[in-house]
Amino acid sequence: MKPLSETALSIKASTTLAVDSLAKSMKAGGLDVIGFGAGEPDFDTPDNIKAAGIEAIKTGKTKYTPAAGITELRVAIAERLKADLGLGYDYTQIVVAGGAKHNVFIALTALLNPGDEVILLAPYWVTYKEATIMAGGVPVIISAGEEANFKIRPEQIEEFITDKTKAIIINNPSNPTGMVYSRNDLKEIADICKKHDLYVVSDEIYYGLVYDGREFVSFPTLSEDAKERSVLINGVSKSYSMTGWRVGYSASNSQIAEVMSNYLSHSTGAPGTMCQWAAIEAVNGPQDSVEAMRKIFEVRRNYITERINKIPGVSCLIPEGAFYIMMNIKGLTGKSLGGQYINNDDDFAVAFLKKAMVAVVPCSGFGAPGFVRWTYAASMENIRSGLDRLESFLKGE
Ligand code: PMP
Ligand code: GLU
Repeated sequence: MKPLSETALSIKASTTLAVDSLAKSMKAGGLDVIGFGAGEPDFDTPDNIKAAGIEAIKTGKTKYTPAAGITELRVAIAERLKADLGLGYDYTQIVVAGGAKHNVFIALTALLNPGDEVILLAPYWVTYKEATIMAGGVPVIISAGEEANFKIRPEQIEEFITDKTKAIIINNPSNPTGMVYSRNDLKEIADICKKHDLYVVSDEIYYGLVYDGREFVSFPTLSEDAKERSVLINGVSKSYSMTGWRVGYSASNSQIAEVMSNYLSHSTGAPGTMCQWAAIEAVNGPQDSVEAMRKIFEVRRNYITERINKIPGVSCLIPEGAFYIMMNIKGLTGKSLGGQYINNDDDFAVAFLKKAMVAVVPCSGFGAPGFVRWTYAASMENIRSGLDRLESFLKGE
């Protein structure tokens, strides 16, 4: 048979979802695995949101909707962006898709011609690279190490701009680093984008999760120009514990929104109608659960980082937002752990899972070899046990 698409064959499965599925299937098989793989809040979807979904089903809201989502949801999202960030978007500029992941993909599809370069700031969320390739683009990776707090200096970006550069993806707060870009850094990035006429995909899905009273700055709020050239990505998965409902959204200029909507109309159409009605309740309803979750995550962040930094052989920076930490395991390479020689983060993750039954994500897939990612969107009990297991594992117990 003729070979499949070269692009499709080059795409690797998402490491975050792969680790998560493996941990879940091991657990289903009766093994005592603790999962720190996929970043999804361990809290249940709030009752008022579930009730809205159930009510939607009962009242027959079970039919097709416009490809970019029902007007009521798009209006509710525009109002939430206004209330939370002061951003003014018309509802027609909001596009609802099957998760923020899908919005990222559709945004890139709308922006890129074959061969267009997209700047990624490493460590980056694993999907950005593959989604860029799937959309016909070429990822150009700029890295910032631990010594730079995993934050790219804006001036680094200019060195990588060519006449093919079309867009840059910013994830603030970042998955996997948890770092938050300052207003000044973002302003400098916005200036560079204006100077070189670049689009910005600004993934702000963790915008409600910032710690230590730090300021969160939404990219399109920086200036009219920044707003015009950016596609803001967000969704209900993280803020409202709705990962399985698959509702994400973007806000952009009208032309991009229309093109994205056209693409959706020929691919997935809109997400499940009842999920959209539940999402209206999420963005319109009481917002106290968002802040309650943020506070709990902050306590967990403090606990996990304090303990990791006391364990010989590993260390981590203290993240400023989101719910991930990157644990440096470079001191463990060349050792044997759990019967496995550790060459890299992949080996560590495999050995840790097999021997200690703890699932973490190797960061090579995020463009940051030598680290593994833990999510602290896990119960305190699991975090405690996971770290106890780490201590025993490193002691060779
Ligand atoms: N952006 C980032 C940075 C993420 O970590 C994730 C993972 N949940 C998403 C987007 C996608 O979220 P969802 O598709 O569940 O809305
Ligand atoms: N985005 C989350 C993560 O990075 C969930 C998994 C996924 O969608 O890739 O773990």
